[in-house]
Amino acid sequence: MKKVTLVTGDGIGPEIAEAARRCVEATGAAIEWDEQQAGTDVMEAEGTPLPDRTVESIRQADATLKAPITTPVGTGFRSINVHLRQYFDLYVCLRPSKSYKGVRSKYDDIDLVVVRENTEDLYAGIEFEKGTDTAGELINWINSHSKRKITPDSGISIKPISVAGTERIVQFAFDYARKNGRRKVTSVHKANIMKYSDGLWLEVSREVAKKNSDIEFEDRIVDNMCMQLVQKPELYDVIVLPNLYGDIVSDLCAGLVGGLGVAPGANIGKNQAVFEATHGSAPKYKGLNKVNPTALILSAALMLGYLNMRDEADKLENAVAAVIAEGKDVTYDMKPDRDDPTAVGTSEMADAIIAKIK
Ligand code: NAD
Repeated sequence: MKKVTLVTGDGIGPEIAEAARRCVEATGAAIEWDEQQAGTDVMEAEGTPLPDRTVESIRQADATLKAPITTPVGTGFRSINVHLRQYFDLYVCLRPSKSYKGVRSKYDDIDLVVVRENTEDLYAGIEFEKGTDTAGELINWINSHSKRKITPDSGISIKPISVAGTERIVQFAFDYARKNGRRKVTSVHKANIMKYSDGLWLEVSREVAKKNSDIEFEDRIVDNMCMQLVQKPELYDVIVLPNLYGDIVSDLCAGLVGGLGVAPGANIGKNQAVFEATHGSAPKYKGLNKVNPTALILSAALMLGYLNMRDEADKLENAVAAVIAEGKDVTYDMKPDRDDPTAVGTSEMADAIIAKIK
């Protein structure tokens, strides 16, 4: 029996969380659920958008399935999602992008996995605002230590990339490839320009690759990678990237397979793993039983794989694929015409998926 925390979120969160839980239960997966809240709904009731009991439950669970949460304004949290990533050191952002027959897209044979580093790089949040004393001090220091000069009217964002941070994410990419029967890892960088940050990333990637020689390894410069993904996506498999490039390339890959409605994801650390859809809480659809539950259900399938419940994961993914391929019991956004009156609601699409689980 595995312990899974279900964070129901807000906006459309509770509806899609319920749909995903029912689908997982239908696979027969041996899961003990602990339902917890986070977001604006619990904020109104308890005065905090992230109660301690939710954090504790995530800490103790084998995995967490999290519905979207609205970024709260004026609560001391920049974003609950960012807070959870930092608090539990969820250093991996995992985003598979796979073509499903029946999803409108320019491509029909995509099967890529983006592994994005989640803690370092330009997103580390180390910034100095233009005109402040600290920015001035930093600029003076840099100008006295570097041949290249920074003008005093500059704002500065720092890009740290470490050996340890790179080692663990690249090793995760190899481990994921091995566990999931994948053939190749591609490490992406701009080492030709940023020698001491991306150059270090590339050097460490190569070292880690040497220790994982059962899986093919290559590297690509990020601009070339973007062009290749659009022109020849079939050449790629697992792609590992520093934070900023990973953010951009994971959306590029979601676009290749038809957008965020079908894009699952996960943030994974050493001891905790939080599985979630890539889309947000779409507050305008709250309570309407209207939105597409697919991305969270596919995130749940990803979670089952992470929990070594491979059969259950495959059953669930195959059932989702079958319902989408039929195109009958799907939500409005998956119909060729968004006003199609035959579109079904969130819970009816989940029912159709459950009916296909064998
Ligand atoms: P959003 O993804 O919530 O919505 C954008 C649009 O996408 C919606 O208007 C809707 O048309 C469509 N959409 C989204 N999910 C859909 C679904 N399942 N089915 C059908 N259509 C869907 O993005 P937003 O409006 O920028 O963000 C709303 C809130 O969600 C913000 O507070 C944002 O910070 C938060 N957010 C949370 C997460 C998370 O919890 N992981 C991720 C992204 C955004």
